[in-house]
Amino acid sequence: RSGRSAALRARMEERLLGARFRYLNQQLYTGSSRDAARLFRDDPAAFHLYHRGFERQVRRWPERPVQRIVRYLRRRPASLVVADFGCGDCTLAASVKNQVHCFDLVPLSPRVTVCDMAKVPLAAEAVDVAVFCLALMGTNLQEILGEANRVLKLGGTLLVAEVASRFEDTRAFLRAMTQLGFKTVSKDLSSSYFYVLEFAKTGPARPGPAPGLRL
Ligand code: SAH
Repeated sequence: RSGRSAALRARMEERLLGARFRYLNQQLYTGSSRDAARLFRDDPAAFHLYHRGFERQVRRWPERPVQRIVRYLRRRPASLVVADFGCGDCTLAASVKNQVHCFDLVPLSPRVTVCDMAKVPLAAEAVDVAVFCLALMGTNLQEILGEANRVLKLGGTLLVAEVASRFEDTRAFLRAMTQLGFKTVSKDLSSSYFYVLEFAKTGPARPGPAPGLRL
């Protein structure tokens, strides 16, 4: 009997965790990056809950998107300097030889520099590769990607891995990226779980609205 009630309790807890994760995820997608910073600063427990839910979710996927980024970097020179926007537990930094600047709202690892990814403490043109792995959150995408553009060297690489279902109009998104100073180098839309997009910085972001940028 007690075995059954323990199992039931575990199942209920799983479902509650799932629901709270989805709720937090929704908040991150529908607010600005500053709202996200405030949310997690005011409620650090929410951040840890979010990460438990995130872990549980991606474990169900056939492949973790961050492994794709790891593979990409291992094929290229280890001398490339990387910025990981929304680094989570720093799996990327721990898996490659490159110097990786890790940015997130709360430090899950001592490697993390705590900041809002719309404003990272790096000089202009400081990195060769900028990464957003399941981290393009917030309604101020243009500002966030503008920040990635600022810290990237000319010709540098922007890698985006993002949940496939978030792309309503991929072509409009890629067109908007052109306006932000990024040309598409490759796109892998083959997974129904997540897309992997590779861009090269062609120049600074052009000002003005980029309407197709919505996710
Ligand atoms: N890139 C990691 C984690 C993805 S989860 C991986 O692939 O495993 C998304 C991460 O983005 C979370 O850790 C979340 O805290 C972070 N994040 C969301 N909004 C942010 C913001 N405004 N500034 C910095 N990090 C942010």
